[in-house]
Amino acid sequence: MPQHHTLTCARCGRAFAATRADARTCSTACRVAMSAKRRNDAIDALIAELAPLSQALTVATQRGDAAGVLDAASALRERLSLDDAPRLLDSTLHGLLIAAASGVVANHSE
Ligand SMILES: [Zn+2]
Repeated sequence: MPQHHTLTCARCGRAFAATRADARTCSTACRVAMSAKRRNDAIDALIAELAPLSQALTVATQRGDAAGVLDAASALRERLSLDDAPRLLDSTLHGLLIAAASGVVANHSE
């Protein structure tokens, strides 16, 4: 006879019976909602990382600071190249951002 654990759902806070001691949610709906929230949080964190890089690129461009533009575009491209970026961003948007950053790097590397 399987042992049941009485656990508290990490999503809705309801008590539920689980056969696995490490279950975290009471239902498929709560599991899906938790996973969507985790993804949204990860997207927010990525955008928070990208924003200052994009801002630095804008400022360097406005100043006509070619070295600053190259640094900022390179940093932006590198961050976008990490594994989580294509996973979290819409693929079209990610492709456009990489292409734009790479174009700026190419223009300023000559
Ligand atoms: Zn729940």
